[in-house]
Amino acid sequence: MIKILKPLLFILLVFALIPICRAQQNFLDIKNYRVYYGWAHNYPQDWIVLRRFENNNRDYLLLVNPLTLQTKINETSFYQVQEMTLAQTRVKFMNTPYIKAISQAEKHSVNIQDAGIEKGVPSETGISLTADLCPSRKPLDRRIFTDIISQFKKVEKPAPIALSVSGLWMLAHNADIQWLKKLRDAGEIRITWVNHSYNHRVSKTAPLKENFLLEPGTNMDVEVLSTEKLMLKNGLVPSCFFRFPGLVSDQQLVFRVTDYGLIPIGSDAWLAKGQKAQDGSIVLIHGNGNEPLGVRDFIKLLHAKTKQIAEKQWLLYDLSSTVEDEAEQGQ
Ligand SMILES: [Zn+2]
Repeated sequence: MIKILKPLLFILLVFALIPICRAQQNFLDIKNYRVYYGWAHNYPQDWIVLRRFENNNRDYLLLVNPLTLQTKINETSFYQVQEMTLAQTRVKFMNTPYIKAISQAEKHSVNIQDAGIEKGVPSETGISLTADLCPSRKPLDRRIFTDIISQFKKVEKPAPIALSVSGLWMLAHNADIQWLKKLRDAGEIRITWVNHSYNHRVSKTAPLKENFLLEPGTNMDVEVLSTEKLMLKNGLVPSCFFRFPGLVSDQQLVFRVTDYGLIPIGSDAWLAKGQKAQDGSIVLIHGNGNEPLGVRDFIKLLHAKTKQIAEKQWLLYDLSSTVEDEAEQGQ
């Protein structure tokens, strides 16, 4: 019996891994990339469809698991797909953490800075790390990653980190992207790719209400969808999260972003601004070389926690699970 089971298990494992490999392919010939909502059924898991596109004459979906908030790319033919409006999708999946998180982010939409979900539940002993990659000519601040890997190698492997990536950063940092993918493929880190807009425009003089994505003439389709397409071209799977450049938005803009099915992520601990990380914090640092102060503070924090990390008393949390817990608590 065992003799038969072994090869069978191996075949099952190979089939289980095929979608993962496909998810990490580089999509170099994307056509007709569009917002598409619906329900994708493939027993035993239901997925929500966020996008649909073609690549080399095959049809693909960007899917989100409404229970775990994890996303993946897969071929449309693997699913029974029912197209729905966004409103219908939100009603059908209203009791899932994903839809609850969207609603919760919308509730925190009035402030000009730091809208969306800006922290997790305090019962978590540790933090969720987000590093922003705004456009920059400087190389990626690799210390963040090498330090995390050396601190967590015995307790948390891969270590989770969310990278908020802008289109212009990706265009100028191919070597850094390859380096990150190597760490990912070696199982050292698990990266959640957060959309940080394409152009990330910023003015030194404009008031906040006309700055960043609130600058007049901003085209949100370009800012959101072109960033996702560039992620896919680079072999990165877009998550269901969005980080506003400068953390600046207004209520209308928050709803524009949730209309793409994306959850805005703020921060209650922007380290370079002197905000301190608490248990459950969504920590913000910049990984683009422009904010060495924040990176220094983060590395200091890691070193101060060395003993707790070794005892698994202080961990890095996946952004998806932090947002999911927070949505379930309905705070
Ligand atoms: Zn930024």
